[in-house]
Amino acid sequence: MAISDRVGRVAVVGAGLAGAVCARQLSFAGWRVQVFDKSRGAGGRLATRRASWQDAAGQSRTTKFDHGAVGFAATTPAFQAFAEQACRAGWLVSWRPVAASGTNDPGLMYVPVPDMPRLTRELLSGIDFCWDTPIDAVQRKDDGWQLRSRGEVQPGLFHAVILAMPPAQSAALLAEHAPGWAQQAVQVDMQPCWTLMGLADTPSAAPWDIARPHHPVIELLSRNERRPGREPQDGEAHWVAHARADWSRQHVERPGDWVQARLQDAVAECLGEPVRWRHAVVHRWRYAQTGLPLAESGDSCWWNAASGLGVCGDFLGGLGAEGAWQSAMALVEKMHWNAGARPASQQVAHPARAELQPSG
Ligand SMILES: Cc1cc2nc3c(=O)[nH]c(=O)nc-3n(C[C@H](O)[C@H](O)[C@H](O)COP(=O)(O)OP(=O)(O)OC[C@H]3O[C@@H](n4cnc5c(N)ncnc54)[C@H](O)[C@@H]3O)c2cc1C
Repeated sequence: MAISDRVGRVAVVGAGLAGAVCARQLSFAGWRVQVFDKSRGAGGRLATRRASWQDAAGQSRTTKFDHGAVGFAATTPAFQAFAEQACRAGWLVSWRPVAASGTNDPGLMYVPVPDMPRLTRELLSGIDFCWDTPIDAVQRKDDGWQLRSRGEVQPGLFHAVILAMPPAQSAALLAEHAPGWAQQAVQVDMQPCWTLMGLADTPSAAPWDIARPHHPVIELLSRNERRPGREPQDGEAHWVAHARADWSRQHVERPGDWVQARLQDAVAECLGEPVRWRHAVVHRWRYAQTGLPLAESGDSCWWNAASGLGVCGDFLGGLGAEGAWQSAMALVEKMHWNAGARPASQQVAHPARAELQPSG
C-alpha cells in the first residue's frame, strides 16, 4: 500500500458519544474516518428501543422507550458550550424534569430529540459507518492496522485505531498490543443495570417525570411519555425503571422473565398502588455506568503515537455522557498535537473548535 493511501486513515470502534465525537472531530481535522459498531445504529448507552405488541383489541402497537441514560448534565463550560450548540442545531433540548416528592431536584438536563441516538447520528452524519460489525480483533501490520469482524478481515488498512467502548470490551482488543492498558481496563468497576420498560394505565397520582424512590430494588423511575419530544398517549404511562446497581449485580445472570416480574412488582410498590400493565420488557446492561472512572487517578484518554492506538470513553473521562465527551476531546487533542499522527497538509482548524453544523 502506498504511504499516501494510509496516512490519515483512522478506524473508530464504537459509535457511542465518545466514538461519535472523536470521529467528527478527526473528520473535521482532515482524517479519513471509518466507524464500526456492533449494534444496528449509533448511540451506545444513549439508547432508545422500539417495542411492538398487540393491544387488548388485537391492534398492533409500537412505542419507543429511552432505556439507557435518561439525559445528561453539563457541569463544565466546554461541555455546556457543546450542548448549547447542539440545542441550537435542534439535536438536543434542555429539560428540567419535575421530581417526585422526596426526590432531589435533578437540575437541568440535556435530552436528544426525538430519541437518544439523535445526537450521535448527527455527529456521524457524512462519516463512513459500518454497523452490525462487532470488531473482535485488531492486528498491527507493517503498514497499518487491520480489523477483523466475526473472523473476517475488514477492507482497508488504518494508520490509527481508536477504541471507544466500555472497558471490558476495549481490554479484549488491547490485550495483545497494550497489555498494561488492558490490565487497567479490566479492573474498572462497571456497574450492571436491569431496566424495565413498561406500558400501563395511567396511575391515579404521579404528576412527575422522575423519582428516585427509597426502595431496595428501584434506583430510578421515569415517565418516558412525559419527556420532551416523546409521544404521550391518553390514558397511558410509559415507565422506564432502572434497578439499583447492587440488585442488578446480584441478579445479573437471572432469566429476563424472573427479573421482569420482580421489577413490575417493585414499580407497583413504589407507586403504592396496583399497576395494570399492557406491555413490558426488560433489558440487561452489563456495563451501565462506571463506579470510579480512571480519570480520578490520571489519564482521561490513552494514546500511543508510535503505534497509532488510542482509547477513550466514560471509564477514562469521568462519569456519564460528559465524561465520554471529555475523554474523546482529550484524545483528539493529543492526536492533533502529535506531529507524527498525520501529515502537515491535514493540519486544518483545531479540532476542538470544530463547529457543530446541522445536517440539513
Ligand atoms: C441505564 C443507564 C443510565 C444512565 N444514566 C446516565 C445519566 O443519567 N447521566 C449520564 O450522563 N450518563 C448516564 N449513563 C451513562 C452514559 O450513557 C454513558 O456514560 C455514555 O453514553 C458512554 O458513552 P461511550 O461512548 O463512552 O460508551 P457507549 O455509549 O457504551 O458506546 C460504546 C459503543 O461501542 C460499541 N461496541 C462495544 N463493543 C464493540 C465491538 N467489539 N465492536 C464494535 N462496537 C462495539 C457499542 O455497541 C456501543 O455503541 C447511563 C447509562 C445507562 C446504561
